[in-house]
Amino acid sequence: MNSSISGANSGTNQALMGGGGTQAARRGGGSAAGSLGAGEAPLGTITGFAAAFGSFALTPPEIVPEQSARLARAERFELQAIARSILPGHRIKGCLLYRRHGAATVQVCRSRASGLAYYGGLQVCGRGAVCPVCGSRIAEHNCGEIQSALDGWRAMGGVPALITFTMPHYRSQGLAENVVALLSAYRGLTGNRPYRALAKSAGLAHSIRSLEVTWGPQNGFHPHLHVLGFFGSGYGAAGFPERLPLLWLAELQRHIAIANTDHVLERGIRFQLGFSAGAEYLSKVGRAWGLAEEVSKANRKKGQGGHFSPLQLLCHVRDETLPQAAAVYREYAEVSHGLHFLQWSRGMRAALGLAEEKSEEEKADGEDQGDPVLASLAPEEWRAVRSGGWQARVRLVELADYDEDAAIAYLAHLVERFRQAAGAGC
Ligand SMILES: [Zn+2]
Repeated sequence: MNSSISGANSGTNQALMGGGGTQAARRGGGSAAGSLGAGEAPLGTITGFAAAFGSFALTPPEIVPEQSARLARAERFELQAIARSILPGHRIKGCLLYRRHGAATVQVCRSRASGLAYYGGLQVCGRGAVCPVCGSRIAEHNCGEIQSALDGWRAMGGVPALITFTMPHYRSQGLAENVVALLSAYRGLTGNRPYRALAKSAGLAHSIRSLEVTWGPQNGFHPHLHVLGFFGSGYGAAGFPERLPLLWLAELQRHIAIANTDHVLERGIRFQLGFSAGAEYLSKVGRAWGLAEEVSKANRKKGQGGHFSPLQLLCHVRDETLPQAAAVYREYAEVSHGLHFLQWSRGMRAALGLAEEKSEEEKADGEDQGDPVLASLAPEEWRAVRSGGWQARVRLVELADYDEDAAIAYLAHLVERFRQAAGAGC
């Protein structure tokens, strides 16, 4: 029993293999608690898992989670720990570590949608721009709503367009300066009369604006906007892409000095019409925290056009492959506080039958899914899991993905180790 646990404990990938550790745990029988030394108190958590096991074990997971999704989940936990370590005092410090106020237990649930196990009853930071775990949940929620909006718009006969707004940027400029200029210019553009007349004549009814920030060693921070425009049927966005660059240049010049205006006219706006452009917008919103799981870990750090996303910066911090990555990430985290990374145009959600938008914390919470609860962990048991670092938190959900029996054994191991450490400390 002990050897099976220590073997299974040797790494994430081995845990994903499933086989050996699971069988050994089964051979150990339902006596996970029996591996503890004589005289130790029984483990309430084990009872919790065992009870859950009785309820769910005979029902196979509705969906077998994809290996790539499991690896992406493990990496998000790891990168969250990296972000936590370089952002002292940031709200991320308690994210998914401590019980939510009023929660007596921590739950291990299994998503009906993905088949992945996850923790409930914990505080979340809701800082989607900075926290890989919350960012992933928020992106998933946003993508679902945007997809609904696109479906609704298609049913109404309209067509979407992906419009990317960029501005010149230089290494000497800080992110705060760049973002203020970009957002002010966009706000100014959408509020001015010539633009509104153009938008009306082209049939632009609604839009969703998404802020993306990348960084490159050559030119520093590169904030830009992806806007999903919803054009009405029969308009076809006539004249819009042709006239937009000049209006954008004029607005930018109110906020920053531009040396090469031709460059802005040629490259400042990118316009793509059609539902494939809508799908591309979704992938841009979703990829921020690794929802684009087809990207292999090896390719993860390769910047696009010499620019790195926040996720890629964290990978560089982890691997110590870019000396300035931690400092860059800190600046990004500081500036991103309070910014709206995704914004729906006024009246759009109601027009498309979407409910009022949730807060970032509510989106990150993800606990209104009605998913089955596999186990409820008592406070001491959660402390034992927490004491194992992000690796233990990942491993427990990985085991719970497909075999609560193995999860029980692993939990027993963690609690035993935690109690021994606590005893040694006395
Ligand atoms: Zn978080």
